[in-house]
Amino acid sequence: MKQRTLKKNYSFSGKGLHTGKPVKMTVKPAPENTGIVFIRTDITQRPVIEARASNVSKTDRSTSLCQDGIAVYTVEHILSALTGLGVDNAIIELDNVEVPIMDGSARKYAVLIGKDGTVEQEAERRFINIDSPIEITDPSGAYVRIEPAPKADYDITIDFGSEVLGVQSAHWDPEDDYIAHIAPCRTFCFFHEVEFLLANNLIKGGDIYNAIVIVEHPISEAQMQLFREKFEMPQLSVTPQGYLNNIKLHFNNECGRHKMLDLIGDLRLCGGFLNAKVTAYKSGHTINTAAAKAIEKAIGIK
Ligand SMILES: [Zn+2]
Repeated sequence: MKQRTLKKNYSFSGKGLHTGKPVKMTVKPAPENTGIVFIRTDITQRPVIEARASNVSKTDRSTSLCQDGIAVYTVEHILSALTGLGVDNAIIELDNVEVPIMDGSARKYAVLIGKDGTVEQEAERRFINIDSPIEITDPSGAYVRIEPAPKADYDITIDFGSEVLGVQSAHWDPEDDYIAHIAPCRTFCFFHEVEFLLANNLIKGGDIYNAIVIVEHPISEAQMQLFREKFEMPQLSVTPQGYLNNIKLHFNNECGRHKMLDLIGDLRLCGGFLNAKVTAYKSGHTINTAAAKAIEKAIGIK
């Protein structure tokens, strides 16, 4: 199979989820064997940050990279989209530190780029194959297990002990329709987490359009009213299923599918298209990227 790149440039404007900073991102075609690289165009020297596991610098709620002291934050959704669309080579220019969050999913990237399709290049695709299983675990019981296989086959299960979420599973392989089944799935958080951020002035209103909010415990009318005012959404309430009605779910297991979206993006940091059976349980960015690092090590990338 040959490498592929984009047909043209695609620009996305928005703001970073964690920094709140406005940013314009332009995803561009790239020559063979470039892989995926970020360029910070707001810095005079236009430094390059390669999308590799050895550049992972932070995994607290999102995946950040840092190369030669220059960082890019929240890279996982665009990496996931490019992987789901089968893109080998792309240059991602950013005029600020964080990738725009858009609606909290990879929908916009995937739909726009997917509509045009990609172009084939001369060089062969770089598939990553491992010889023996790799397993990364953490004390909570979460794990990512990667086993040798002739093609990619990813499964994830999430279980946070939440009655609203329940136990959710999701699957992906390259024959799957990434644009329809994975890309639209948005990030999620719990009501009490947002409440904590509000109480500590860590978010100053704005919008909550880019997250599914899970309401695990009963909340008072006063708590609800505070949310309505802060987010300027007077209709805000809790659905019978236990979600805030700021958005409508695309799938009953949208949260599990979003965790798959993240897993695909984080594992792309191993440097190519992974041919392996991946089984993940409750995994997040920390163990996902630790798995990508372990793959780099296993295949001999320094
Ligand atoms: Zn995510």
